[in-house]
Amino acid sequence: MNIKPFNDTSYEQFLNEWKIMGTKCKKCGALALPPRPICVSCYRSELEWIEFKGTGKLAAFTSITVAPPNMAKAGYGRDNPYVLGVVELDEGVKAVVRIVGVDAKKPEQIKVGTPLKAEFLTKGEGPTRQNSLAFKP
Ligand SMILES: [Zn+2]
Repeated sequence: MNIKPFNDTSYEQFLNEWKIMGTKCKKCGALALPPRPICVSCYRSELEWIEFKGTGKLAAFTSITVAPPNMAKAGYGRDNPYVLGVVELDEGVKAVVRIVGVDAKKPEQIKVGTPLKAEFLTKGEGPTRQNSLAFKP
């Protein structure tokens, strides 16, 4: 069996296969999403892939009005903010991801602790299709 390297490229390839894959340390069991080449807890490199179910709850969030270039290009910014959140997955790992299905202009209506489910955002079609990960209530 071919083991993909534990990096962002593999992570993105898995997302394109509709899979949320992170790393699990074989020594201490610490999880990482996105995957890291070295354990975030004990710094060893004996890792394995783990597929996340894609369920969790909102731990923190922020409404982004100053968009980085890639998001600004997609039309986000001061008049069209988007939400970036920290999601605590049921497996016990925290990931920083985009939150969709919420009103970024009314962040006061977004509640920490809200149960969330993974949602794949798709760009392009066919062989150039690219998935990215978001979560929604
Ligand atoms: Zn470890």
